[in-house]
Amino acid sequence: MTNSEAAAAATPGTLRQARVLVVGAGIMGAGIAQVAAQAGQRVALFDARDGAARQARERLAATFDTLVAKGRLQAPQAAEALARIEPVPSLEDAADCALVVEAIVESLDAKRELLARLEQLVDEHCVLASNTSSLSITALARDMKHPGRMVGMHFFNPVPLMKLVEVVSGLRTSPTVAQQVFDLARSWGKTPVHARSTPGFIVNRIARPYYAETLALLQEQAAAPEVLDACMRGAGFRMGPCELMDLIGHDTNFAVTQAVYEANFFDKRFQPSLLQRELVDGGLLGRKSGRGFYDHAAGADVPAARPAAEDLLAPRAPAARLLLAGSGALAERIGEALRAAGHAFEHDAHADWCGLRVDDARLCLSDGRNATELGADVAVFDLPLRDDSGLALAWAASADASPDWVQQAPRWLHLLGWQPLRLRDVPGLVVARTIAMLVNEAADAVHQGACSMDAADHAMKLGVNYPAGPFEWLARWHRLGAGDPATLLDALDLHYRGERYRVSPLLRDRARTGARRPSPD
Ligand code: NAD
Repeated sequence: MTNSEAAAAATPGTLRQARVLVVGAGIMGAGIAQVAAQAGQRVALFDARDGAARQARERLAATFDTLVAKGRLQAPQAAEALARIEPVPSLEDAADCALVVEAIVESLDAKRELLARLEQLVDEHCVLASNTSSLSITALARDMKHPGRMVGMHFFNPVPLMKLVEVVSGLRTSPTVAQQVFDLARSWGKTPVHARSTPGFIVNRIARPYYAETLALLQEQAAAPEVLDACMRGAGFRMGPCELMDLIGHDTNFAVTQAVYEANFFDKRFQPSLLQRELVDGGLLGRKSGRGFYDHAAGADVPAARPAAEDLLAPRAPAARLLLAGSGALAERIGEALRAAGHAFEHDAHADWCGLRVDDARLCLSDGRNATELGADVAVFDLPLRDDSGLALAWAASADASPDWVQQAPRWLHLLGWQPLRLRDVPGLVVARTIAMLVNEAADAVHQGACSMDAADHAMKLGVNYPAGPFEWLARWHRLGAGDPATLLDALDLHYRGERYRVSPLLRDRARTGARRPSPD
């Protein structure tokens, strides 16, 4: 550690009692000021645009009034919080603060210029934090006299509602400073996680495949957007990828994907989608422009995907006996459903596949190979992440499947408790390949020291409301007896060739140790 880094690391006391300067009174800066003030912190608010800080405070006053009217805040507390927010006409007016959080325009030059000015004003122990979503903290600190004090404090929008804060350390960030900011964020009621300054930090990096896999499937004409969305909702996500991209805006979503792609030296794994670029070029930006994947004109409903009525009929009883293949929670679930429906069956717990044999036809859990590759009378079904019955589940039939098996396969899936939705015969279907890629990206983030496994799990649940964290999914995948995401990705890699589906070394190692010692949970 250099002298200047040590100086910052030696910051005395806690940031909790200090006055905080928030620079940039836009959507994020105002939200940060609100959260800090409600937690009892004194806040100075500055914006380069005349009157902007004052207007932001007025908007916050209205927000507090609404919260009081809804009973979510007591009137005296609202008044106290508002009184703690002081718009300041110049940066000099807050030179005594111990922490600056900048939330100005997302420009490296503008932020560096601001940081240089701040360094001339504040004392050397003042921590300088940036709310940047995409810029490198190391790059922001490049010309600073005391780079150890520079840290990322990445809030999510809307700040008062989103619990997550990524505390981002660049190469020269003092660990003490990162920990102080972490503790402060916690005292503001947030759930902070430590992250290293790598492209996309945690959330914006690990989340890429959620969109990318669906975009790739759409490009392959695997199914309509509403079908893919329904399958992902069936896996527990609040919104399917298409409806979520429509909500975020394709321009924003495409820009983040492109930034992560470029920052990773055009690694194919992060390659943006031609389909999404076409939407952006055509002004089909989603809700904000009235049309994206879906029509959002007033009164228009996002279409719902439902199985065909004939797919929900009872399957024809098998001529020979049924065979249940595989072991683990999924095989148990299938066995229970068969028993409940009055079907006798044999069980091969040591089979190298999981699913059901009906006479000579097979219904196989996807292992990353498509149905055609697995044989003639084969249908594959998607990874059922949740135990509830009645959820949408993707399936696909082999190109060589008889018309009879194409008719019977979804009926068996329905008997087993799912709402079958047919996809073209794409490998890894939709949930299995998306979850495998999310787990893989999280594994690589951990492998490269960008964050811990716990941080990845917390970040994805709190930053983008995922129903579980990537490493929780990995444990669930093993518990289900569904093989391993690394095997699935290897099959996808073989099918598509190229860099996209390469397995993270950490996931590969966990697949090996997991195979020797299955996860207890
Ligand atoms: P915004 O446009 O709503 O607000 C930016 C504010 O900064 C404006 O009021 C502008 O007048 C002011 N400003 C610009 N240059 C300035 C300067 N040199 N000095 C002082 N004030 C200046 O933007 P935002 O959405 O609040 O984003 C701010 C930062 O937060 C960006 O770095 C962005 O990447 C990051 N961020 C945004 C989101 C989001 O969803 N909007 C989420 C996480 C992080």
